[in-house]
Amino acid sequence: MTPQFDAIIVGAGFGGMGAAIALAELGLTNVTILEREDDLGGTWHVNHYPGLAVDIASVTYSYSFAPNPYWSRLFAPGAELKRYAEHVAERYDLRRSMRFGVVVERAEWDDAAQQWVVTTADGETLRGRFLVTATGFLSQPYTPDFPGIEEFAGKIIHTTRWDDTHDFAGERAAIIGTGATAVQLIPEIAARADDLTVFQRTPIWVVPKIDFAIPRFVQRLFARIPRTQRAARTVNNAILEAIMVVGVLHFRQAKAVNRIAAAVARAHLRVSVRDRATRRALTPHYDFGCKRPTFSNKYFRTFNRPNTRLQTSSIERFTTDAVITADGTRTPIDTLVLATGFNLWDVNFPALQIIGREGRDLGAWWRTNRFQAYEGITVPRFPNLLSLNSPYSYSGLSYFTTIESQMAHMQRLLTELERRGAATFEVTDEANSTFLDDVTEKLGDSVFYGGQCSTSRSYYFNQHGEAALLRPTSTSASFAAASTFPVSDYQFS
Ligand code: NAP
Repeated sequence: MTPQFDAIIVGAGFGGMGAAIALAELGLTNVTILEREDDLGGTWHVNHYPGLAVDIASVTYSYSFAPNPYWSRLFAPGAELKRYAEHVAERYDLRRSMRFGVVVERAEWDDAAQQWVVTTADGETLRGRFLVTATGFLSQPYTPDFPGIEEFAGKIIHTTRWDDTHDFAGERAAIIGTGATAVQLIPEIAARADDLTVFQRTPIWVVPKIDFAIPRFVQRLFARIPRTQRAARTVNNAILEAIMVVGVLHFRQAKAVNRIAAAVARAHLRVSVRDRATRRALTPHYDFGCKRPTFSNKYFRTFNRPNTRLQTSSIERFTTDAVITADGTRTPIDTLVLATGFNLWDVNFPALQIIGREGRDLGAWWRTNRFQAYEGITVPRFPNLLSLNSPYSYSGLSYFTTIESQMAHMQRLLTELERRGAATFEVTDEANSTFLDDVTEKLGDSVFYGGQCSTSRSYYFNQHGEAALLRPTSTSASFAAASTFPVSDYQFS
């Protein structure tokens, strides 16, 4: 049976769009991109809370082959990222392949027909030769089940479902969470609401954000002489690489670098927050890098405002109009903001049910064995599947380095498939095990295992305590592997 599509891509964020561009370069243009949301852009479409901006300088946080010379700031605001996604979709004519509001529930490999059968929540069935899942790492919002929350009569807003019409003026607001999202949002709510209580369970490392508007003449220079922007990207990449490789991945060998980063963050806290007890409460009790650190010049200072309070006692329950904490404090509130992040390890990985050869269920297999994927992209018994958001796939600090090395892997693999005139690829068990052993060994040097991370509650760790999200290599090593991996690591048939 001829499949309807060369490839079915799930997700119209930067990962899915990158995959579509890589496939088109190979001549595979009969592609459908299925997206759960009502427009493209992934996280940059879903998130539009006030204060949203990238935390990786924009010269780096973009496709290297589609630079945008017109970023307004060093760290562009979220809305510019959304516009950039639209621009890329237009430039590569991707919109015509996209369908929105389509929730993919299941994908099953049909071994007889050698194709993927994808089922949507509406009961539609699609068939494709290749399946690419690009469903994101942080795409399944997490809402804790606080006792009594269903009784709370005020307004509740999760940061991924921001209500742009909501006016905090005159309100008593509360926010739960102090992750990267909350760090951006807290100063904005504090400036609007009468009163803000921040419920913190785990403090976060925050370093100063060196941000500024990019002058028009620099934007014009980047547009006229693209080499200048490439040079800026190279310099920024080198800085990020040093932070990640030296400070995080080679923690055992270079503890001093990690300690310097922590000292910078501590000094930032000391000069920003006046009250000593608040400072102490905001000081992390785990090593820098165990959990993704954030950048902000406004976050700490917000705790000096008379209308902003930090509450570190744990939340016991909600009443119709208040939060009750373990220390007996009752905090009356009108609006509750949930900056409680995402569920990676229970409901993502994968974000839909995927059944491969011999009936192997990817989610069940990952949970009962170890989380694993060869080069963070393919899995044994899953022919013709490219799973972009896999364990050990995230390389470096900018998601675009991951996307582009996966595009390179995909192109090398599919070019070889074509050269052999084969119909399917499947990674061998041996290659997959060797890769898992290699990343496991390398991670032994990282802050995740060599540092003190036990109290960090970091989503880098899965339910078995393994730091199975990040690939423990430099981004240049990831790129090199993506374009030179032995093709004998795959079986072609
Ligand atoms: P997050 O880092 O997972 O933070 C969630 C917060 O909610 C944590 O402080 C967590 O506390 C708290 N929380 C969860 N359950 C709780 C409970 N039952 N009781 C009390 N507190 C609870 O999520 P996020 O802030 O949305 O950020 C996720 C990632 O998105 C970031 O690491 C970053 O990679 C990315 N991001 C990037 C940008 C950017 O580029 N500018 C902006 C925002 C986010 P615990 O720590 O104690 O669990």
